[in-house]
Amino acid sequence: MIVDDVLTCPVCGTPNRAPDDATNGYCGRCHDFTWPVKFVDIHGHPMTLTGWAKLCEAIAVRILADTTIDSYRLRAIWTGVCDGLCAMPFGLALYPPDGRRHLTVLEEFNSRAEVDLAFTAVALWMGAHPGTLPTAAVVHDLMEAR
Ligand SMILES: [Zn+2]
Repeated sequence: MIVDDVLTCPVCGTPNRAPDDATNGYCGRCHDFTWPVKFVDIHGHPMTLTGWAKLCEAIAVRILADTTIDSYRLRAIWTGVCDGLCAMPFGLALYPPDGRRHLTVLEEFNSRAEVDLAFTAVALWMGAHPGTLPTAAVVHDLMEAR
């Protein structure tokens, strides 16, 4: 976080006092950009922009779980981006059976454990309710119940 023009790196915890570093989110110890958008690996550990970009190149890493139910494809995905306002690093996505690339993000999560829980809950729910899709409210209720 930035306090009095000092950037404390979210990855390594080093305070960076160079004026441009705090403005640009650059950490002199990591030699990388670590702020204001934060990145986390699939275990939720903070990482640098460069580390995140390298992980993204391996596309299979982004799909944590994948199954087909009632002709819909359900995936738990990792994006690794968490800006603290709207983006969360894990998500549950649903792909319709007609083969279009359109996807519906059912819900976003802060942790791998949460998205794994939601994936299992939604897969069970869809198996029990053929032809209908869960709303975000249903996903939330399913997670509360487990
Ligand atoms: Zn750092």
